[in-house]
Amino acid sequence: MSDLLVKFAFTGAQVRGELVRLDAAWRAMTAHRRYPPPIMRVLGEMVAAAALLATTIKFNGALVMQVYGDGPLQLLVVECQPDLALRATAKVRDEPIADDISLQELLNRGGRGRFSITLDPKDPLPGQQPYQGIVALEGDSVAEVLRTYMRQSEQLETRLWLASNEDVAAGLLLQRLPNDGRLQVAPNDDTWEHVTALAQTVTAEELLNLSPENVSHRLFWQETLEHYAPLTPRFACTCSRERIGKMLISLGQDEVDSIVAEQGSVTVTCEFCGRQHSLDAVDVAHLFAHGI
Ligand SMILES: [Zn+2]
Repeated sequence: MSDLLVKFAFTGAQVRGELVRLDAAWRAMTAHRRYPPPIMRVLGEMVAAAALLATTIKFNGALVMQVYGDGPLQLLVVECQPDLALRATAKVRDEPIADDISLQELLNRGGRGRFSITLDPKDPLPGQQPYQGIVALEGDSVAEVLRTYMRQSEQLETRLWLASNEDVAAGLLLQRLPNDGRLQVAPNDDTWEHVTALAQTVTAEELLNLSPENVSHRLFWQETLEHYAPLTPRFACTCSRERIGKMLISLGQDEVDSIVAEQGSVTVTCEFCGRQHSLDAVDVAHLFAHGI
């Protein structure tokens, strides 16, 4: 099985769904880092959710999900580009983490944890700022945190079922669309209640081990679905010498010169992909004399 995202709609109802399964992309994303298992689970679920949510939004830019935790998980960032190029990283406090730690203990120990989604436009119009919604970290699962977010920030009823291990990150999304009057939906239409009850029976094992097509067949074989062209999420990092240059310029020449004087060069390791970007004394002098 390979990295795949499938979209579908329930015929005649204002409900859409998506299934995603990431394996090679997920392994590539985490190949350079070893995270404790609870961090891997949360990160994988967030990555699957980012691919699912990005696909529901008509927006030309990056969707960035961030967790600012006050427990062992300090920071988590997942970024999804419009072509479903994904990257992710987590910052973990140096303390032991029990394998069965609850989500609340992991990232909201003192109740000050926050979750945000930022939509960062690719070609911003003059004066256009990235849109950001931010909520408290409520709920015992990543899916619950996102459900709260979508309800509070987007006023959209969205349910997610997510699962992740070292090899696979996977998820199912169902979303109830506002009735825009274009579709004749019976006033007592209960498709939403019906299909979310069906989805509720999905297990983590099924999400992790079955293909999206098989999960959708297992859950919704009695429903009439419209399928859209499948999409291929992938891992890609947008780090570059240019971006590292910008970062070094923001640090200031004195700071960078002192690192070069001490170490002979300045090396920045990308948190997302592990790539090392090195600049020697000549590169640094050129950078500050001529810019990027
Ligand atoms: Zn990178």
